[in-house]
Amino acid sequence: EAKAKGRNTFHFYSQELDAAANERLFIENELRIALKAKQFKLHYQPQVNSQTLEVIGYEALIRWYHPEKGYIPPDKFIHIAEATGMIVELGEWVIEEACRFSMQLQTLGQAGNMSINLSARQFKDDRLISTLSDVLERTQMPPHLLHLELTESMLMGDVEAAITQLHEIKKLGVALSIDDFGTGYSSLSYLKRFPVDMLKVDRSFVQDIPEDQNDMEITAAIIAMAQKLKLQVVAEGVETQEQMEFLQKNNCFIVQGYFYSPPIKASEVHSFYQSLQHQS
Ligand code: C2E
Ligand code: MG
Ligand code: MG
Ligand code: MG
Repeated sequence: EAKAKGRNTFHFYSQELDAAANERLFIENELRIALKAKQFKLHYQPQVNSQTLEVIGYEALIRWYHPEKGYIPPDKFIHIAEATGMIVELGEWVIEEACRFSMQLQTLGQAGNMSINLSARQFKDDRLISTLSDVLERTQMPPHLLHLELTESMLMGDVEAAITQLHEIKKLGVALSIDDFGTGYSSLSYLKRFPVDMLKVDRSFVQDIPEDQNDMEITAAIIAMAQKLKLQVVAEGVETQEQMEFLQKNNCFIVQGYFYSPPIKASEVHSFYQSLQHQS
Protein backbone atom coordinates (compact mmCIF):
# COMPACT_ATOMS: atom_id res chain seq x y z
CA GLU A 1 0.00 0.00 0.00
CA ALA A 2 2.47 2.49 1.33
CA LYS A 3 5.03 1.45 -1.22
CA ALA A 4 2.56 1.78 -4.06
CA LYS A 5 1.48 5.16 -2.80
CA GLY A 6 5.10 6.23 -2.50
CA ARG A 7 5.77 5.18 -6.02
CA ASN A 8 2.73 7.05 -7.25
CA THR A 9 3.75 10.15 -5.40
CA PHE A 10 7.18 9.97 -6.91
CA HIS A 11 5.65 9.43 -10.31
CA PHE A 12 3.39 12.42 -9.76
CA TYR A 13 6.26 14.70 -8.74
CA SER A 14 8.50 13.55 -11.55
CA GLN A 15 5.72 14.28 -14.03
CA GLU A 16 5.41 17.76 -12.61
CA LEU A 17 9.13 18.26 -12.81
CA ASP A 18 9.09 17.04 -16.40
CA ALA A 19 6.36 19.50 -17.23
CA ALA A 20 8.32 22.35 -15.63
CA ALA A 21 11.53 21.29 -17.37
CA ASN A 22 9.72 21.02 -20.68
CA GLU A 23 8.19 24.43 -20.31
CA ARG A 24 11.57 25.87 -19.50
CA LEU A 25 13.14 24.21 -22.51
CA PHE A 26 10.30 25.38 -24.71
CA ILE A 27 10.70 28.98 -23.55
CA GLU A 28 14.47 28.80 -23.91
CA ASN A 29 14.18 27.63 -27.52
CA GLU A 30 11.38 30.00 -28.46
CA LEU A 31 13.20 32.98 -26.95
CA ARG A 32 15.93 32.52 -29.53
CA ILE A 33 13.39 32.87 -32.34
CA ALA A 34 11.19 35.52 -30.77
CA LEU A 35 13.48 38.52 -31.19
CA LYS A 36 14.01 37.95 -34.92
CA ALA A 37 10.34 37.11 -35.41
CA LYS A 38 9.38 40.40 -33.71
CA GLN A 39 7.19 38.73 -31.10
CA PHE A 40 8.12 41.26 -28.42
CA LYS A 41 6.45 44.57 -27.81
CA LEU A 42 6.77 47.20 -25.15
CA HIS A 43 3.84 48.49 -23.19
CA TYR A 44 4.10 51.67 -21.20
CA GLN A 45 2.68 52.44 -17.78
CA PRO A 46 2.25 56.11 -16.91
CA GLN A 47 3.73 57.58 -13.75
CA VAL A 48 1.39 60.35 -12.69
CA ASN A 49 1.77 63.26 -10.31
CA SER A 50 -1.49 62.83 -8.38
CA GLN A 51 -1.53 66.50 -7.33
CA THR A 52 -1.15 68.09 -10.75
CA LEU A 53 -2.27 65.14 -12.92
CA GLU A 54 0.90 65.57 -14.93
CA VAL A 55 2.41 62.48 -16.51
CA ILE A 56 6.01 62.57 -15.29
CA GLY A 57 7.02 59.55 -17.31
CA TYR A 58 6.43 55.97 -18.30
CA GLU A 59 7.81 52.58 -17.37
CA ALA A 60 8.48 50.32 -20.35
CA LEU A 61 7.31 46.74 -19.71
CA ILE A 62 8.07 43.95 -22.11
CA ARG A 63 5.28 41.87 -23.65
CA TRP A 64 5.75 38.58 -25.47
CA TYR A 65 2.99 37.43 -27.79
CA HIS A 66 3.80 33.92 -28.91
CA PRO A 67 2.08 32.81 -32.14
CA GLU A 68 0.76 29.58 -30.55
CA LYS A 69 0.94 30.10 -26.79
CA GLY A 70 -0.43 33.62 -26.79
CA TYR A 71 0.71 36.07 -24.12
CA ILE A 72 3.64 34.92 -22.01
CA PRO A 73 4.18 37.27 -19.03
CA PRO A 74 7.68 38.58 -18.19
CA ASP A 75 7.73 36.67 -14.89
CA LYS A 76 7.68 33.47 -16.99
CA PHE A 77 10.61 34.25 -19.25
CA ILE A 78 12.88 37.04 -17.95
CA HIS A 79 14.67 34.69 -15.54
CA ILE A 80 15.22 32.20 -18.36
CA ALA A 81 16.54 34.89 -20.68
CA GLU A 82 18.76 35.90 -17.78
CA ALA A 83 20.05 32.36 -17.18
CA THR A 84 20.89 31.80 -20.86
CA GLY A 85 22.43 35.23 -21.36
CA MET A 86 19.80 36.12 -23.97
CA ILE A 87 18.78 38.98 -21.69
CA VAL A 88 21.72 41.06 -22.86
CA GLU A 89 20.48 41.11 -26.47
CA LEU A 90 16.84 41.33 -25.43
CA GLY A 91 17.62 44.12 -22.99
CA GLU A 92 19.45 46.03 -25.66
CA TRP A 93 16.36 45.85 -27.84
CA VAL A 94 14.23 47.12 -24.94
CA ILE A 95 16.49 50.10 -24.31
CA GLU A 96 16.58 51.12 -27.96
CA GLU A 97 12.85 50.60 -28.57
CA ALA A 98 11.91 52.58 -25.43
CA CYS A 99 14.26 55.45 -26.31
CA ARG A 100 12.87 55.63 -29.85
CA PHE A 101 9.35 55.74 -28.52
CA SER A 102 10.28 58.38 -25.97
CA MET A 103 11.71 60.52 -28.78
CA GLN A 104 8.40 60.22 -30.64
CA LEU A 105 6.57 61.39 -27.53
CA GLN A 106 8.96 64.30 -27.17
CA THR A 107 8.15 65.32 -30.73
CA LEU A 108 4.50 65.43 -29.65
CA GLY A 109 5.45 67.75 -26.79
CA GLN A 110 5.54 65.09 -24.10
CA ALA A 111 8.96 65.29 -22.48
CA GLY A 112 8.62 62.70 -19.69
CA ASN A 113 11.00 60.13 -18.26
CA MET A 114 11.35 56.69 -19.72
CA SER A 115 12.06 54.00 -17.13
CA ILE A 116 13.53 50.69 -18.16
CA ASN A 117 14.02 47.56 -16.07
CA LEU A 118 17.52 46.16 -16.05
CA SER A 119 18.22 42.59 -15.05
CA ALA A 120 21.20 41.56 -12.91
CA ARG A 121 23.11 40.10 -15.82
CA GLN A 122 22.64 43.23 -17.92
CA PHE A 123 23.75 45.43 -15.06
CA LYS A 124 26.94 43.43 -14.56
CA ASP A 125 27.68 43.06 -18.26
CA ASP A 126 30.84 44.85 -19.44
CA ARG A 127 29.00 46.06 -22.53
CA LEU A 128 26.30 47.96 -20.64
CA ILE A 129 28.00 51.33 -20.68
CA SER A 130 28.87 51.22 -24.38
CA THR A 131 25.40 49.92 -25.25
CA LEU A 132 23.82 52.79 -23.36
CA SER A 133 26.03 55.43 -24.93
CA ASP A 134 25.48 53.94 -28.42
CA VAL A 135 21.71 53.95 -27.99
CA LEU A 136 21.69 57.48 -26.59
CA GLU A 137 23.76 58.59 -29.58
CA ARG A 138 21.68 56.74 -32.20
CA THR A 139 18.32 57.85 -30.83
CA GLN A 140 19.37 61.33 -29.64
CA MET A 141 17.56 60.57 -26.39
CA PRO A 142 18.38 63.19 -23.71
CA PRO A 143 20.21 61.02 -21.11
CA HIS A 144 18.52 62.58 -18.08
CA LEU A 145 15.14 61.35 -19.36
CA LEU A 146 16.33 57.75 -19.33
CA HIS A 147 15.83 56.06 -15.95
CA LEU A 148 17.20 52.61 -15.28
CA GLU A 149 15.44 50.50 -12.66
CA LEU A 150 17.55 48.15 -10.57
CA THR A 151 16.63 45.99 -7.60
CA GLU A 152 18.31 45.88 -4.21
CA SER A 153 19.47 42.30 -4.68
CA MET A 154 21.38 43.32 -7.81
CA LEU A 155 23.34 45.84 -5.78
CA MET A 156 24.05 43.78 -2.70
CA GLY A 157 26.35 40.99 -3.88
CA ASP A 158 29.56 42.78 -4.71
CA VAL A 159 28.66 46.19 -3.36
CA GLU A 160 31.88 47.94 -4.40
CA ALA A 161 31.59 46.70 -7.99
CA ALA A 162 27.95 47.78 -8.05
CA ILE A 163 28.80 51.27 -6.81
CA THR A 164 31.47 51.61 -9.51
CA GLN A 165 29.02 50.52 -12.20
CA LEU A 166 26.35 52.91 -10.87
CA HIS A 167 28.83 55.78 -11.13
CA GLU A 168 29.70 54.77 -14.70
CA ILE A 169 26.01 54.95 -15.60
CA LYS A 170 25.61 58.29 -13.84
CA LYS A 171 28.53 59.67 -15.88
CA LEU A 172 26.39 59.19 -18.98
CA GLY A 173 23.79 61.46 -17.39
CA VAL A 174 21.28 58.64 -17.03
CA ALA A 175 19.09 58.48 -13.90
CA LEU A 176 18.78 55.47 -11.57
CA SER A 177 15.86 54.05 -9.60
CA ILE A 178 15.64 51.25 -7.07
CA ASP A 179 12.66 49.10 -8.02
CA ASP A 180 10.53 47.01 -5.63
CA PHE A 181 12.09 48.92 -2.76
CA GLY A 182 11.66 47.34 0.65
CA THR A 183 11.53 43.74 -0.55
CA GLY A 184 15.26 43.18 -0.88
CA TYR A 185 18.06 43.17 1.60
CA SER A 186 19.82 46.43 1.00
CA SER A 187 21.16 47.89 4.16
CA LEU A 188 20.30 51.48 4.81
CA SER A 189 23.95 52.34 5.32
CA TYR A 190 24.64 51.33 1.73
CA LEU A 191 21.66 53.19 0.40
CA LYS A 192 23.34 56.54 0.85
CA ARG A 193 26.42 55.30 -0.98
CA PHE A 194 24.41 54.30 -4.04
CA PRO A 195 24.21 57.25 -6.44
CA VAL A 196 20.51 56.71 -7.14
CA ASP A 197 17.82 59.27 -7.87
CA MET A 198 14.59 57.48 -7.06
CA LEU A 199 13.01 54.76 -4.93
CA LYS A 200 9.99 52.82 -6.07
CA VAL A 201 7.93 51.59 -3.10
CA ASP A 202 7.04 47.98 -3.84
CA ARG A 203 3.45 47.13 -4.70
CA SER A 204 3.26 44.61 -1.84
CA PHE A 205 3.28 47.48 0.69
CA VAL A 206 0.71 49.51 -1.19
CA GLN A 207 -1.82 46.85 -2.06
CA ASP A 208 -3.25 46.36 1.46
CA ILE A 209 -3.57 50.03 2.32
CA PRO A 210 -5.73 50.97 4.23
CA GLU A 211 -6.42 47.56 5.82
CA ASP A 212 -2.90 46.72 6.89
CA GLN A 213 -1.53 49.02 9.56
CA ASN A 214 2.02 47.65 9.27
CA ASP A 215 2.13 48.24 5.53
CA MET A 216 1.00 51.80 6.09
CA GLU A 217 3.76 52.39 8.64
CA ILE A 218 6.38 50.87 6.34
CA THR A 219 5.20 52.87 3.34
CA ALA A 220 5.23 56.10 5.33
CA ALA A 221 8.71 55.29 6.67
CA ILE A 222 10.12 54.58 3.19
CA ILE A 223 8.70 57.86 1.89
CA ALA A 224 10.13 59.81 4.84
CA MET A 225 13.51 58.18 4.42
CA ALA A 226 13.56 58.89 0.68
CA GLN A 227 12.87 62.53 1.41
CA LYS A 228 15.66 62.72 3.98
CA LEU A 229 18.05 61.23 1.44
CA LYS A 230 16.71 63.67 -1.19
CA LEU A 231 15.50 60.87 -3.41
CA GLN A 232 12.38 61.00 -5.50
CA VAL A 233 9.80 58.43 -4.52
CA VAL A 234 7.24 56.62 -6.65
CA ALA A 235 4.56 54.30 -5.28
CA GLU A 236 3.92 51.22 -7.38
CA GLY A 237 0.68 49.29 -7.73
CA VAL A 238 -1.66 52.09 -6.66
CA GLU A 239 -5.14 50.84 -7.45
CA THR A 240 -7.56 52.87 -5.33
CA GLN A 241 -8.43 56.44 -4.47
CA GLU A 242 -7.83 55.65 -0.79
CA GLN A 243 -4.31 54.44 -1.49
CA MET A 244 -3.60 57.53 -3.56
CA GLU A 245 -4.88 59.80 -0.78
CA PHE A 246 -2.88 57.98 1.89
CA LEU A 247 0.24 58.48 -0.22
CA GLN A 248 -0.55 62.15 -0.74
CA LYS A 249 -0.97 62.65 3.02
CA ASN A 250 2.46 61.12 3.44
CA ASN A 251 4.05 63.31 0.77
CA CYS A 252 4.32 60.84 -2.05
CA PHE A 253 2.78 62.39 -5.11
CA ILE A 254 4.14 60.29 -7.93
CA VAL A 255 2.14 57.13 -8.39
CA GLN A 256 2.05 54.28 -10.84
CA GLY A 257 -0.73 51.72 -10.93
CA TYR A 258 -4.10 50.67 -12.23
CA PHE A 259 -5.76 53.63 -10.45
CA TYR A 260 -4.51 55.85 -13.28
CA SER A 261 -3.66 53.28 -15.90
CA PRO A 262 -2.42 49.76 -16.53
CA PRO A 263 0.51 49.41 -18.92
CA ILE A 264 -0.81 50.43 -22.33
CA LYS A 265 0.21 50.05 -25.96
CA ALA A 266 2.38 52.67 -27.59
CA SER A 267 -0.56 53.70 -29.76
CA GLU A 268 -2.66 54.48 -26.67
CA VAL A 269 -0.12 56.59 -24.83
CA HIS A 270 -0.81 59.92 -26.46
CA SER A 271 -4.57 59.75 -25.93
CA PHE A 272 -4.05 58.78 -22.29
CA TYR A 273 -1.84 61.84 -21.89
CA GLN A 274 -4.42 64.07 -23.49
CA SER A 275 -7.30 62.68 -21.43
CA LEU A 276 -5.38 63.40 -18.23
CA GLN A 277 -4.62 66.93 -19.40
CA HIS A 278 -8.34 67.53 -19.87
CA GLN A 279 -8.97 66.53 -16.25
CA SER A 280 -6.34 68.84 -14.79
P1 C2E B 1 8.20 45.68 -12.11
O1 C2E B 1 9.30 46.37 -12.80
O2 C2E B 1 8.10 45.86 -10.64
O3 C2E B 1 6.87 46.18 -12.86
C1 C2E B 1 5.65 46.39 -12.24
C2 C2E B 1 4.69 45.24 -12.48
O4 C2E B 1 3.47 45.49 -11.78
C3 C2E B 1 4.28 45.08 -13.96
O5 C2E B 1 4.05 43.69 -14.20
C4 C2E B 1 2.97 45.86 -14.00
O6 C2E B 1 2.12 45.47 -15.08
C5 C2E B 1 2.38 45.51 -12.67
N1 C2E B 1 1.46 46.54 -12.17
C6 C2E B 1 1.51 47.87 -12.37
N2 C2E B 1 0.52 48.51 -11.72
C7 C2E B 1 -0.19 47.55 -11.08
C8 C2E B 1 -1.35 47.60 -10.21
O7 C2E B 1 -1.92 48.64 -9.90
N3 C2E B 1 -1.79 46.39 -9.73
C9 C2E B 1 -1.18 45.21 -10.05
N4 C2E B 1 -1.69 44.09 -9.54
N5 C2E B 1 -0.08 45.15 -10.85
C10 C2E B 1 0.40 46.31 -11.35
P2 C2E B 1 4.61 42.98 -15.51
O8 C2E B 1 4.49 43.90 -16.67
O9 C2E B 1 3.99 41.63 -15.58
O10 C2E B 1 6.17 42.83 -15.18
C11 C2E B 1 6.62 42.01 -14.14
C12 C2E B 1 8.10 42.20 -13.89
O11 C2E B 1 8.85 41.72 -15.02
C13 C2E B 1 8.51 43.65 -13.72
O12 C2E B 1 8.24 44.09 -12.40
C14 C2E B 1 10.00 43.56 -14.03
O13 C2E B 1 10.70 43.11 -12.91
C15 C2E B 1 10.03 42.48 -15.11
N6 C2E B 1 10.13 43.12 -16.44
C16 C2E B 1 9.16 43.65 -17.22
N7 C2E B 1 9.67 44.15 -18.37
C17 C2E B 1 11.02 43.97 -18.30
C18 C2E B 1 12.12 44.28 -19.18
O14 C2E B 1 11.97 44.88 -20.26
N8 C2E B 1 13.37 43.90 -18.77
C19 C2E B 1 13.57 43.25 -17.57
N9 C2E B 1 14.82 42.92 -17.24
N10 C2E B 1 12.57 42.96 -16.73
C20 C2E B 1 11.31 43.32 -17.08
MG1 MG C 1 10.13 48.17 -12.73
MG1 MG D 1 8.49 47.11 -9.26
MG1 MG E 1 9.58 43.33 -9.93
